[in-house]
Amino acid sequence: MRPVVLCFSGLDPSGGAGLQADIEAIGQAGAHAAVACTAITVQNSQQVIGFEACAATLVEAQATTVLDDLPVRVIKSGMLGTIDNIAMLTRLFAERIIADGTPFVLDPVLVANSGGSLGDEQTLVAAFRKLLPYATLITPNTHELRALSGEQDLHIGAQKLCAQGTHAVLVKTSHDFDSGDIEQYLYVQGEMIHQSTLSRLDGEFHGSGCSLASFIAGRLALGDALTAAVIAADHWITQTLIAADAPHPDDAKAQLIPNRFVKITAST
Ligand code: PLP
Repeated sequence: MRPVVLCFSGLDPSGGAGLQADIEAIGQAGAHAAVACTAITVQNSQQVIGFEACAATLVEAQATTVLDDLPVRVIKSGMLGTIDNIAMLTRLFAERIIADGTPFVLDPVLVANSGGSLGDEQTLVAAFRKLLPYATLITPNTHELRALSGEQDLHIGAQKLCAQGTHAVLVKTSHDFDSGDIEQYLYVQGEMIHQSTLSRLDGEFHGSGCSLASFIAGRLALGDALTAAVIAADHWITQTLIAADAPHPDDAKAQLIPNRFVKITAST
């Protein structure tokens, strides 16, 4: 069968972010997504109303049942919601997954793009610090990178997370400036090994971070090297954002939903 990416992610009923984004992105990358559901959120494209996290024992049971069955090549995590879920995943890596050498793409979700809470930030950050050393790649937004590293400077923050054991960090300057291009940096073991400039697109997107991280995970599962997976994901995500659906076309501030089924044109 196609290589499997096992995702730990939350349900977003709007279908923009979370486990639906993961399933669609991983499918478009050419891999198969399996999902251990970590939380059920109540939200739409505009706001998060609340969420109920799944018990860590239930999340672990979902994951181990899949690990016992399917050829899982990559693990991907998104919203984990509680420190119990983060601690459970940390233990699962220590006891089982790390021995298999399975790559791990960690999207350290702290808040939704709409600004809504997806867990208590301070306790999540403390718990994430123990999970980070197991990550092959983390894909924080600038807010998450600063919260996790305690550094304002994105380059120093990325290097610090590498020094603390994360293999690679992919960071964009997307939330920092209102205009101009977006700079993206890939740090591996503290060294910047890839830098790219992406054109800024108008609008805020709901689920773009989940989609990017999952597409990378899918490509890693297919055997791509890290930089190649990132380049392929950039090409794909840009086209899904250009073709994004606008639930509220008259409101320039409303979030858009990436069209993960857009027909992709070849990169030049
Ligand atoms: N996971 C879930 C379940 C979410 O609801 C969200 C945001 O709403 C995210 C992850 C992160 O989304 P984004 O990719 O927009 O950062």
